[in-house]
Amino acid sequence: MSGSEPSADRLDYVEWADRLRDGELLGQECAECGHTTAAPKAACAQCGSRTIATVTLPTTGTVHSETTIAVAPEGFEGEYQVAVVRLGDAKILGRIDDTVDIGDRVSFTDVVTADDHPAPVFTPV
Ligand SMILES: [Zn+2]
Repeated sequence: MSGSEPSADRLDYVEWADRLRDGELLGQECAECGHTTAAPKAACAQCGSRTIATVTLPTTGTVHSETTIAVAPEGFEGEYQVAVVRLGDAKILGRIDDTVDIGDRVSFTDVVTADDHPAPVFTPV
C-alpha cells in the first residue's frame, strides 16, 4: 500500500454538489475509525485515514447549533436561519425553512443555491 494514491471512491465537491441538487446528501465514512463527514474530504477529519467510503447520509437529524442571517445575500429576501444539523455522526450546515432551536428534529426537504453552490434546506419535523 502506498497510502498516497487517491481512492477510486474519492468523493469530490462537484459530485457531492450534483447529487445534492438531485436531493441526495452524500458523506464519507472512515474505514479506520468510523467517523462520518457530510462534505467531501481527502482524509478523515478525525484520524487522518485516507481509507474513506462514500455513503448516503440520513435525511433526518438534530439541530446542533443555529444562527439567524440578518442580511441576506443578493437574490434572497429578509432574515433566514441557518443551522448545523447532526445527521448521525456527520454535521452539515444548512438553511432552515421555518425556525428551530438547538435539539429540534429536522428533515432534509429542499435544496437552495447561492453563488452556484447548493446547500441543503431542513424543515422541522
Ligand atoms: Zn477516521
